[in-house]
Amino acid sequence: MDDLGLLSSGLLVVATDVERTTGIRLVLTPWDDPAEGVAALLHTDTERPTHAVWETIGLLGPGAGLALHPPRAHPTGLASPYGDLSALDTAHDVADVAQQVTQMVLWENGSDPTWPPCPDHGGVHPLRPRLDTPGWDGQERPDRPVASVRWTCPSGGGSVPVGALAP
Ligand SMILES: [Zn+2]
Repeated sequence: MDDLGLLSSGLLVVATDVERTTGIRLVLTPWDDPAEGVAALLHTDTERPTHAVWETIGLLGPGAGLALHPPRAHPTGLASPYGDLSALDTAHDVADVAQQVTQMVLWENGSDPTWPPCPDHGGVHPLRPRLDTPGWDGQERPDRPVASVRWTCPSGGGSVPVGALAP
């Protein structure tokens, strides 16, 4: 899959969480600027981006999209017990940027920007996207452990897969 395919696949999953819980629709615009390390811009479907920004504060002006790096290059031939992590690594990065855009839009609209609120701690802090690689004990086994990107409590509470946030 090419870079844009990986980024779009990542957005597809996290965008369902965003829309289902906030009504905000996020889209991706291809933005080919390798010199600046930009592969695409993430923004709401009402925005027509004219420039890339790296900080959410930059989204306050019109025509801004939050920059997404191209997917990280994984050295070929590097064995991972979880298989190829390129898609999950990218999904993690896209979820992180999608969270930033969503929080900014909520704040702009006068809503609570703590998104997604942690259910274990009364919504006092947001969950954070985390690449979860459980069960690897360093031994090669026929049953490969399954990695996933999860919304995770940063204070040691629970987690839920990205794409499966409760409405
Ligand atoms: Zn928590």
